[in-house]
Amino acid sequence: MAEFHALIIGGGGTGGALAHDLALRGLRVTLVERGEVTSGTTGRHHGLLHSGARYAVKDHESAIECIEENTILRKIAPGTFEENDGLFVAVTEEDVEYGNLLIEGCAECDIPTERLTPEQAWALEPNLSPNLIMAVRVPDATMDAMRMPLRFFATAIKNGAVIKTYTEVLDVIKEGGTVRGVRVRDHTSGKEYEIGADIVINAAGPWCGRIADMVGVEVPIRPSPGVMLAVRGRLCNMVINRMTPAGDGDIIVPQRGLSVIGTSSWVVDDPDDLGLPEDHIQTMYSEGAMMVPLVRKAEFRAAWAAARPLIGPRRADADTGRELSRTFKCFDHADEGVEGFVTITGGKATTLRGMAEAAADVVVQKLGLDAPCRTREVELLPFEAYYAIPG
Ligand SMILES: Cc1cc2nc3c(=O)[nH]c(=O)nc-3n(C[C@H](O)[C@H](O)[C@H](O)COP(=O)(O)OP(=O)(O)OC[C@H]3O[C@@H](n4cnc5c(N)ncnc54)[C@H](O)[C@@H]3O)c2cc1C
Repeated sequence: MAEFHALIIGGGGTGGALAHDLALRGLRVTLVERGEVTSGTTGRHHGLLHSGARYAVKDHESAIECIEENTILRKIAPGTFEENDGLFVAVTEEDVEYGNLLIEGCAECDIPTERLTPEQAWALEPNLSPNLIMAVRVPDATMDAMRMPLRFFATAIKNGAVIKTYTEVLDVIKEGGTVRGVRVRDHTSGKEYEIGADIVINAAGPWCGRIADMVGVEVPIRPSPGVMLAVRGRLCNMVINRMTPAGDGDIIVPQRGLSVIGTSSWVVDDPDDLGLPEDHIQTMYSEGAMMVPLVRKAEFRAAWAAARPLIGPRRADADTGRELSRTFKCFDHADEGVEGFVTITGGKATTLRGMAEAAADVVVQKLGLDAPCRTREVELLPFEAYYAIPG
């Protein structure tokens, strides 16, 4: 089977998981990434292994994907997650009303919940607001945004995948109606060259619309940035979520000695031009403090923005991105008359493995191979293996 060559564009979590999946299915795999691996959105996210509860009221598809992948990832990547669980906290009567919908939605999506009194919640998290009315415990967890996907890259490399970092796709080579490879620039040498492939997979996250433009096909992608704020001090040990519909500053994730508060949401056309609005940082302080008052006076450590690849109409009138689903989708562009080119996009860092499975299923089916997915069972190498000196 190794005579079939798959070329993946984008070294985020999705591309890394896909390289692992396709290598396990016996394909020859090359992945090209314009920077370091995880240097796009993946390395800058909140670090929350979603239970799916955040989406359980309005976005069942994404909620179910999250709880399924949450369970699988804990099995194939043991030791990667802080098994700290999450709490949804109500600090107003309106929050309590949403809490009832949350518990119902979680039950419909098979997400386990446990309702806690304020006293039980304060016993777990003493820094929670004195205004706390109720809390619901869910199987969220903290993850390291870079180390988790590195385990996929490390295992893919062990199984023969070639990862070319600092290698940017400048153009996609098309002969007639078929994609035959890519033209790249190696940013370390300045050299430009071509890489041929039997199939090219666009896993460029919020940049996937730009890659699709090179081929002349359409991917409905809406890059939607959000701001994250990291403050010094571990102000909670569990993931704290506000018991409201998804909104600004409604999640606090403890990361090592920091607490990271996120996020906001708007939409852009260019994922390389996000900016970092100061008022969004202030919103992270004020909204975070509604759940954990110590956030208000916590020492600033860092703030940054990253863009979600959300599936939605490109270049539509401005909206906030909140109304778009967090689910993922695989596009076989043969449907638009272009062979040999597939896009996988949308989703979450939590669903990287499931996204890879969906894309790899399409790839092997297109190549006429009988090669089932094995990534639900195969345990991943530790992240350190990514840095191991070959030989
Ligand atoms: C603020 C924020 C917080 C989030 N928090 C969470 C969270 O807590 N938990 C969670 O599960 N999800 C979270 N997400 C969502 C998650 O981060 C993304 O869904 C996921 O990281 C996307 O991964 P990806 O591999 O598809 O895209 P990316 O990580 O962006 O990877 C795409 C890669 O393609 C590369 N690329 C682009 N153009 C080219 C080119 N021409 N040639 C070669 N390479 C190219 C880029 O450099 C990039 O590395 C968050 C997102 C945001 C924005």
